[in-house]
Amino acid sequence: MKTPDLAFDLIVVGGGMVGAALAAACSGLGLTIAVVEAREPRRHWPRSEIDLRVSALSRASQRLLERLGAWERIQELGASPYREMRVWDAVGGASIHFDSADLGEPDLGHIVENRVTQLALWERLEAAPDVSLLCPAQGGLLTLTPDLALLDLADGRRAAARLLVGADGRDSWVREQAGITTSGWDYDQHAIVAHVRVTRPHGETAWQRFLPTGPLAFLPLLDGRCSIVWSATEERARELMALDDAAFLAELEAAFERRLGSVTEIGHRAALPLRLQHADFYVKPHLALIGDAAHAVHPLAGQGVNLGFLDAAQLADNLGEALARGRDIGGLWTLRRYERARRGENMRMLGAMDGFKRLFSNSDPLLVGLRNAGLAAADRLAPLKRAFMREALGLGEGLPSLTRRRAPAAGGPNQGSRDGIETVN
Ligand SMILES: Cc1cc2nc3c(=O)[nH]c(=O)nc-3n(C[C@H](O)[C@H](O)[C@H](O)COP(=O)(O)OP(=O)(O)OC[C@H]3O[C@@H](n4cnc5c(N)ncnc54)[C@H](O)[C@@H]3O)c2cc1C
Repeated sequence: MKTPDLAFDLIVVGGGMVGAALAAACSGLGLTIAVVEAREPRRHWPRSEIDLRVSALSRASQRLLERLGAWERIQELGASPYREMRVWDAVGGASIHFDSADLGEPDLGHIVENRVTQLALWERLEAAPDVSLLCPAQGGLLTLTPDLALLDLADGRRAAARLLVGADGRDSWVREQAGITTSGWDYDQHAIVAHVRVTRPHGETAWQRFLPTGPLAFLPLLDGRCSIVWSATEERARELMALDDAAFLAELEAAFERRLGSVTEIGHRAALPLRLQHADFYVKPHLALIGDAAHAVHPLAGQGVNLGFLDAAQLADNLGEALARGRDIGGLWTLRRYERARRGENMRMLGAMDGFKRLFSNSDPLLVGLRNAGLAAADRLAPLKRAFMREALGLGEGLPSLTRRRAPAAGGPNQGSRDGIETVN
């Protein structure tokens, strides 16, 4: 067997938002860490340019990013807070309104470009003495032996680690190499993403209208524009993408009932296929999956990367615990603890999003009546709305330590503190 050219304790394949967060969360634990990333992140772009891929980040994600020392940089590069959320049904018209003030919270989350989050984390990794960034680099072959994970890179080098983590996204190469199957299905929907300018102020509110062909969201951006995520059946999405800008804007205004006035400007549009996908298991000896490599969820409630950050924070907790107890970080004793903590939670969220998608795309009059009555009743039930907001914000119980509300006597990696960074909530 070829001797490894490089040896690490932990290799993370995929340095996107989730993989970079895991490496940053494990930095300082006494491990040698490598991040293998295929594409160098972009470092500069014109100030007025906003990338099409944005995510709504929850409070739990914000806390993690604060503790990893990335949040300040994210704010510097641009994070748009949203303080309210308005959701309504196109058929029947019932609506629900969420306001962060009802929870005593400053906001319900932030809309952040994915590349901003990745870059802020990446800069932290560049400054970390225990992290090696192998980029651009890609795996050619992955072999799991009883003792190690061996990664043959496409450039001919072989890297060995006690634990290899697949954070390489929805079409994960690591997952495929490890022979981990997935369950799920393609939604018959594509999400059209674009940025638009509207004539009325967005009011730092995230808006979502449920149409029978899929939900349409307007998310507030710092410069007054909105980022739209329009999920539509494949056929409808194809029709919409074929329209010129003027015709598309007319359809968009009609679909959104002109709630924010006229839509006067639109940039580039892209359509992304949507899929529900869940890895049948997350771990094997010396291997774990996190983020979209483990689960892909419908974007209707903006939960995908938030779940991925919880995976990263949980795995960092379990690795810290293993090290403290003298256990192998790649052993099943360690990895099953991670899987037990996250797989059920992720399954619950995948199921809930799938249920919402099905409920709102159904035009059966009985179901339409029931869901409108339910939505209207929920809007009047303050405790229920608060519980829903707490869940969406990630304020619940049982969170990994780096995402928890700061305990009064914080300290040490498993007490939710890094780099002496204090959190606001
Ligand atoms: C339309 C839309 C809207 C969304 N909105 C939200 C939202 O509001 N909130 C939210 O929480 N989530 C949202 N999501 C989901 C979110 O985008 C994903 O959950 C998130 O990007 C997953 O992050 P990741 O790091 O796991 O994977 P990715 O972002 O896919 O990153 C994977 C990384 O691995 C690298 N890579 C891939 N293969 C290899 C390889 N073989 N070797 C080395 N490197 C490799 C890639 O270059 C990339 O950097 C949305 C998704 C869609 C489609």
